[in-house]
Amino acid sequence: MPGKPAGTLYVVATPIGNLDDISARALRILADVALIAAEDTRHSARLLQHFGIATPLQACHEHNEREQGGRFIGRLQAGEDVALISDAGTPLISDPGYHLVRQARAAGIRVVPVPGACALIAALSAAGLPSDRFIFEGFLPARMAARRARLELLREEPRTLIFYEAPHRILECIEDLQVIFGAERQAVLGRELTKAFETLKGLPLGELCAWVAADSNQQRGECVLLVAGWEAPEGDAQVSTEALRVLDLLLAEMPLKRAAALAAEISGVRKNLLYQAALERQGDA
Ligand code: SAM
Repeated sequence: MPGKPAGTLYVVATPIGNLDDISARALRILADVALIAAEDTRHSARLLQHFGIATPLQACHEHNEREQGGRFIGRLQAGEDVALISDAGTPLISDPGYHLVRQARAAGIRVVPVPGACALIAALSAAGLPSDRFIFEGFLPARMAARRARLELLREEPRTLIFYEAPHRILECIEDLQVIFGAERQAVLGRELTKAFETLKGLPLGELCAWVAADSNQQRGECVLLVAGWEAPEGDAQVSTEALRVLDLLLAEMPLKRAAALAAEISGVRKNLLYQAALERQGDA
């Protein structure tokens, strides 16, 4: 006789502040599953209690996720549905869950996302910075030298950059952004999103730094930092070193015109600037 079909692992987003942001579907799934795998069971117990949900919770955090994953997989293979939640927002986004999701998929378990709040998307949606292309860098290194080294690598990134940061490091983080990206680069600080003291402040980095330094309230609560991507100055002499590196790699493999077009697509630098740079590099200009 065939066994019971395997259950489903639901990856459920929970609010990042305002409890009304949980979806009706999330509530239904949290109430219906056999078990909820939670980053912090005490924290999530309060959320479930608020919504009158009595589903049992089991810990699934960064310290036990790899080892305990098997327990959850066992329950799923036995035919039970399991929901994965983190303390706030979308699991796996700077939160635990990656190992469990990987293990579940490797075991042939169906994994279903139940989308909802996510601080980086909430911030981006209201920041007024280009949102067609962006990169999420999570948390920067805590130490200044390592943080500045990481930022150096991102200095000529053309897409909008998004960082999470702890409140006690927000000022030194903005100071380092200003040092590496320049005081004129536009930035937005999203703080306490969806909560009573929600702030979305957009200023050039130099001014944002002074504004946060002058008001200790801005150094409290949960923060997302968004920084406008690098814009190539006019003139081919200022094509970024990264764009030129890409161009050189492509020139070794394909005709000039195609290489310039592809390098433009990859780097975001204008095609005619790269075409001109390619001609100069091949000594034809
Ligand atoms: N999984 C979460 C998500 O989907 O956004 C992120 C979890 S991560 C451990 C926590 C960080 O997210 C905070 O340090 C802060 O940078 C950001 N964050 C979470 N809630 C926020 C809020 N309400 N306003 C601003 N940033 C928030």
